[in-house]
Amino acid sequence: MGNRKIFIGGNWKMNKGAGESLQFLDRVIKGIKADKYLMEAIPQRMTAVIFPQAANLFPMYETLKEYPLISLGVQNIHWENSGAFTGENSIAASLESGAGFALVGHSERRHIFGETDEVIGRKFRSCLGNGLKPVLCVGETGSERSRGNTETVIAHQVGSVLTDALENGKINELVIAYEPVWAIGTGNNATASDARECCSLIRETLCRIAGPESAENAYILYGGSVKSSNARIYLQEDGIDGLLVGGASLDPEEFLKILLTSLF
Ligand code: PEP
Repeated sequence: MGNRKIFIGGNWKMNKGAGESLQFLDRVIKGIKADKYLMEAIPQRMTAVIFPQAANLFPMYETLKEYPLISLGVQNIHWENSGAFTGENSIAASLESGAGFALVGHSERRHIFGETDEVIGRKFRSCLGNGLKPVLCVGETGSERSRGNTETVIAHQVGSVLTDALENGKINELVIAYEPVWAIGTGNNATASDARECCSLIRETLCRIAGPESAENAYILYGGSVKSSNARIYLQEDGIDGLLVGGASLDPEEFLKILLTSLF
């Protein structure tokens, strides 16, 4: 996959207020600046993205303007540009607050908030059409895996969203995270070979729908109980281009360790 960057996402979910978010950035930026290797390697070889609560995007963006080492993403958006959708985040406001990426189809949105593939598809298309890069999350539940349905579920989740989106043409540099639901927040991370197999299934599905170029250019990530002590096992696998990290991304020291270990 050539000289592509490593993608590390930190999904903070519904954690951290503005004060704590800025303290985190202060610590991480100091940590990066104190390490000559990280200071050089991050801009050249990594796309690091934090997904805070939407209310904290703007203050974080203001801080990061001076240190463009970390990008920001929004955890959820609505597909409409504006209107009577109380409690939702618009893409325009997210962009204005400094988000460059949006999580779409995270398992907590699917399973707690009942988002269907159709809703996820609308959000995905709206992101693409409005200049926000979607990070599409897919993955099977524990019972789907034990019934032997992992491949069908993943191919369906990827296919249903992308087939429609591609009516508008080729998509470059897609980001898709394979996040098995049973591995999220459980400490029960997937084996590197299971992660590799599912990531390669995603790339094959992408190749069928969008063609070899889009498949080759896509970033396929693994997420699910990643921490600094297991991050490397995934990145050593062919076809895994990065990680989506939840719980472990909340601690600045642990996040710094993940950045460092991912670059070796
Ligand atoms: C996530 O929420 O996307 C995630 C991967 O969480 P965790 O790392 O805590 O399992």
